Amino acid sequence: MFGFLKKIFGTAQGRLLNKYWKIVAQVNRLEEGFNSLSDEALRHKTVEFRERFERGETLDQLLPEAYATVKNVCRRLCGTDIHVSGYDQKWDMIPYDVQIVGAIAMHYGAIAEMQTGEGKTLTAALPLYLNALTGQPVHLVTVNDYLAQRDCEWVGVIFRWLGLNIASLTSQTPHHARKSIYAADIVYGTASEFGFDYLRDNSMVQSKEDQCQRGYYFAIIDEVDSILIDEARTPLIISGPSSVSRQKYDELKDDVSHLVRHQRDLCNRLATEGRKVLEKCGLLEETPTERKLNKEEEEEQSEAFSKLWLVAKGMPHNKTLKRLRENPDLRARIEKWDIYYYAEQNKEERAQALAELFIIVDERSNEFELTDKGIQSWSEETKHKASIDESVMLDLGEEYAKIEHDSALSEQEKLHRKVLLREEDAQRKERAHNLRQLLRAHLLMERDVDYIIAENKIVIIDENTGRPQPGRRFSDGLHQAIEAKEGVTIQGETQTYATITLQNYFRMYKKLSGMTGTAMTEANEFKEIYKLEVVAIPSHKPCKRKDADDEIYMTEREKYNAILKEVQDTHNQQRPILIGTESVEVSEKLSRILKQNKCEHTVLNAKNHAKEAEIIAEAGKKGAITVATNMAGRGTDIKLKPGVAELGGLHVIGTTRHQSRRIDRQLRGRSARQGDPGSSKFFVSFEDSLMRLFTSPRITVFLQKFRPPEGEAISAKVLNKSIETAQKRVEQRNYTMRKHTLEYDDVMNKQREEIYAFRNEVLHTDNSLALVGEILDSLCAQMSHQFLVSRSTAEGWNPEGYRQWLLTHFPIAFESKEFEDDYMQVEEIERLASKKVCGAFEKKIALEEEKITKTQEALAGQATLKLTPRDILREIVRSILIRNIDKLWQEHLLQIDYLRTEVHLRSVGQKDPLLEFKHEAFKLFDSLSSRIKQEIAHALFKFEMVIPETAPQRATPTPIVRQAQRPLIDLSLFPNFDEPVSEEPMIT
Ligand code: ADP
Ligand code: MG
Repeated sequence: MFGFLKKIFGTAQGRLLNKYWKIVAQVNRLEEGFNSLSDEALRHKTVEFRERFERGETLDQLLPEAYATVKNVCRRLCGTDIHVSGYDQKWDMIPYDVQIVGAIAMHYGAIAEMQTGEGKTLTAALPLYLNALTGQPVHLVTVNDYLAQRDCEWVGVIFRWLGLNIASLTSQTPHHARKSIYAADIVYGTASEFGFDYLRDNSMVQSKEDQCQRGYYFAIIDEVDSILIDEARTPLIISGPSSVSRQKYDELKDDVSHLVRHQRDLCNRLATEGRKVLEKCGLLEETPTERKLNKEEEEEQSEAFSKLWLVAKGMPHNKTLKRLRENPDLRARIEKWDIYYYAEQNKEERAQALAELFIIVDERSNEFELTDKGIQSWSEETKHKASIDESVMLDLGEEYAKIEHDSALSEQEKLHRKVLLREEDAQRKERAHNLRQLLRAHLLMERDVDYIIAENKIVIIDENTGRPQPGRRFSDGLHQAIEAKEGVTIQGETQTYATITLQNYFRMYKKLSGMTGTAMTEANEFKEIYKLEVVAIPSHKPCKRKDADDEIYMTEREKYNAILKEVQDTHNQQRPILIGTESVEVSEKLSRILKQNKCEHTVLNAKNHAKEAEIIAEAGKKGAITVATNMAGRGTDIKLKPGVAELGGLHVIGTTRHQSRRIDRQLRGRSARQGDPGSSKFFVSFEDSLMRLFTSPRITVFLQKFRPPEGEAISAKVLNKSIETAQKRVEQRNYTMRKHTLEYDDVMNKQREEIYAFRNEVLHTDNSLALVGEILDSLCAQMSHQFLVSRSTAEGWNPEGYRQWLLTHFPIAFESKEFEDDYMQVEEIERLASKKVCGAFEKKIALEEEKITKTQEALAGQATLKLTPRDILREIVRSILIRNIDKLWQEHLLQIDYLRTEVHLRSVGQKDPLLEFKHEAFKLFDSLSSRIKQEIAHALFKFEMVIPETAPQRATPTPIVRQAQRPLIDLSLFPNFDEPVSEEPMIT
């Protein structure tokens, strides 16, 4: 069945490739013809193509000639000196046919899967050139700053030759220089720089001149899986200190520590008891003596294992347990209880056993829950302060109703009570949330695995690269919770000023495409989320790499011994070796083992990409041994040095299977590039976290039966399958998590687009005063709908209420019965109101204009003013609009943040949190849009120009804006306005 489907899939791809190969033939024919052109004539092609595009030819039509032009330029460049990343090189590349195939796939908006070393950098140059002919923004997205610069310098030679502007964007590019960078035809840069510039342009800058991007036409994402899949869990966020803070980590941390200590003491006791029994029975000796047990002994043993099982549920990282588990026989007997309790008839017994714990931890799903015992212990300990009941939410609806119906209260008091109640509710929710995060920090986050402490700060360790991530913070208060757990300073709450996921950023491009060595395993996700097809491009030369079967060991110890032997054997042949590890920790461990055995080697876990690239480039020397974390040095390839190919090329060793098959393929792909010889082999043990957490306990039982002698690898086909199944399961789980992040961001995306569009309209309009007219108009209409619904009921028709509202909000006068004409339609009333309000505003503007004119007259002679008073007013009004939009949008984002945590608490009540979130977010946005209009209207009538008492001595007088009661521009709301703190928290 599967084979049959694969055939269909295969032929669809095959048909597409056939089509592309025909175009390749055409490109090559044309290119041959170009050989006779002079440099001048070839260079002129760019101008010609641009004109033809203007006249209506499509890019698809121009493609063969444009690609042929690029190819011919490459030919002419051969032998010329180019300067890349500080080195002088000679140009030696003319696109191979397969590269042209890849280039066509990319133009048609697909992901070209091309193996490492196939030359994707050059391939991308063709579609970049073609699409830049439109004059629209074309971006190439790289994984790091170093590659942005390198690739731009490298293939930039072609573009410059053809008269195009190119530029690279890095985190070091100052903001004022960015506008001119984006003006280039083609821009190379990292995803986060592009994304942050988008956020800055749309939520930070105060004038259209300061906006640096000029649109989103075509983007090619290099190492697309790394960016759209691995990085996609971390949204881009511009944030700063929050103006309100409710966090309670300080208050709660000691109590949580106590609770966790109870659990730890309990588990330690259970573990020691269990261990003692096993020791007594002789099970901990090197070669346990098998002897017949009597019934009593058997029961005692069984109980010991059940205690250890309980420890696994309460403190999975317990040291005694960890050590016992290293013995596969013991591990299997502990896990036997899992199978036993799994049976339906034993559920009850399982619940009883677990009730002994305070907290149940599920390492697999990364979750935990308090038992009744835990809850009771918590409320006893904290009686004087906060009982756990307090985290039970208030039913606001009911509480409000109670207040409403309390006749003893005046309206004012009712309002006051409601405000208090709402604050109380918010406090409770925050406390419950903080409590969960503190427990999570204690139970599931491990020091030196998930994070390290450096200079009294919590620093995240990236799970993919194993690199410390200074500056990043776990989101949603988890970071603060870990700070509380470790007793370092708890940082203040931060507030989001602007945020977007990479997914939603890249969806803005009219056309998107990508390239990488490894995309097929995630083809489904690319298609569902980005509508990107993956096309597998054949390699230039057939791949000669020999991929050995995995070697599987029971214990890590045996695995490392086998790896060491493999390294020594291969090294004796002088073949270079690359060893991939899953974390910094493992890379250092391996390095120690190698050192002890006198194997000279290089460890690659640096933070400096340029140096990283250099080490990787050296890894192809005779006898080189390089230990690297998995993702380090992506984008640089390992070229074999002379003599190495004859020896068999680069040998890649994987020290475990990664959670995702893609990462394994990436590592293998480092060997045997461009038809070189090479080989790869993975070593796995049953203590690797992938195996421990995601293979079924049955396998362990199976292994116990067929355990090979110490040090010997297990070879069983069923195991290969089960590793792959485990990987697929984790991939699926991670995909769900990414989708989840995206689903929440999708709700925000619509709102963000709407607000940003409005903000842009304000920034770009020539006449902000006209826009104000529209806003006032719409506000009058909107409010009239609240008072004037229908004449048929008394509550539905309240013209007096409307009149009162107008009078309190605007400096205008109305006759007392002005709206009470029985024949007047709603539209008519609205028009009347709007006319008065707008008239009043015009008057106000005229007044302020007069003041400015006077000031200018007073200053005449001191300075020549280019701006008319009306121009000045337009700018002031524009800035009032922008400030108010920003202020309210940021408040909205804060509310959304609260909402997001809150809906998860609700999920306890059987409600779908996402649906709840959508619903509430929509309501919040609805009220935001009317509040924006109201606040703007208020602010517009409040600002005043102040005429300086004495003419100021400054050369260019700037009008001072002031607000009647409180400062209009409350700078405290915009801390770090020019230099926003940018950080990318992890979603856990
Ligand atoms: P990838 O990104 O696909 O891993 P790169 O773009 O880094 O590969 O290129 C790998 C190497 O292949 C580079 O050293 C480059 O010089 C070489 N190369 C690429 N295309 C060609 C070509 N058409 N002819 C000769 N060398 C090429
Ligand atoms: Mg590359």
